[in-house]
Amino acid sequence: MVHSGPERIVVLSGPSGSGKTTLVRKLVECADVTLVKSVSATTRPPRPGEIHGDDYWFLTAAEFREKLNKNEFLEHAEVFSSGFLYGTLRSELDRAWSRNAWAFLEIDVQGALKVMQQYPNAVTIFLKTPSPEEFERRLRARGTESEEVIQRRLTTALRELQLANRYKYVVVNDQLETAVSEICAILKAEEMARNA
Ligand code: 5GP
Repeated sequence: MVHSGPERIVVLSGPSGSGKTTLVRKLVECADVTLVKSVSATTRPPRPGEIHGDDYWFLTAAEFREKLNKNEFLEHAEVFSSGFLYGTLRSELDRAWSRNAWAFLEIDVQGALKVMQQYPNAVTIFLKTPSPEEFERRLRARGTESEEVIQRRLTTALRELQLANRYKYVVVNDQLETAVSEICAILKAEEMARNA
């Protein structure tokens, strides 16, 4: 079903290592609009410090499949050919909208394309790093992933970059503060357009 109304959805994608996590934390504080971050479901095991229901809904493969069968997902994808599934539950949209807020989805490109099909008026933002070298440097600086995972993420990132032009906005995350205020300005303008 295509929803072409004023539903408030923001989709942010960008390769891991593009500085997304820090940026998202700052954006949620953006004073001009209210954002409620969608908590995705995943079959990936939690990393140290990650909290169920906060970072992700951590599900078993069977639980994930059950929700798929019940059509509870707006979109889902296998990310990074990792074998792990990630998906946005429709209930996360309702949670945001019931608070009169924007549902904020931080999802990969495959998921974003599926959201665009269903909600063509979604505000879609692709976050780029200044250069591929900088991107690789940031990915390695995290020090949490194996070489194999890093290589897979680099390949995925290059493929995703080719789809950046499908997004409504492309923001370069060179200076964090600049990227945050750029996205805040985009959201403010989109909010005003919806209220007009
Ligand atoms: P991580 O495992 O590092 O937390 O996330 C890996 C990737 O999964 C990120 O690039 C993120 O954008 C993507 N991701 C997280 N949640 C979802 C989701 O609900 N749907 C899709 N399609 N991708 C997601």
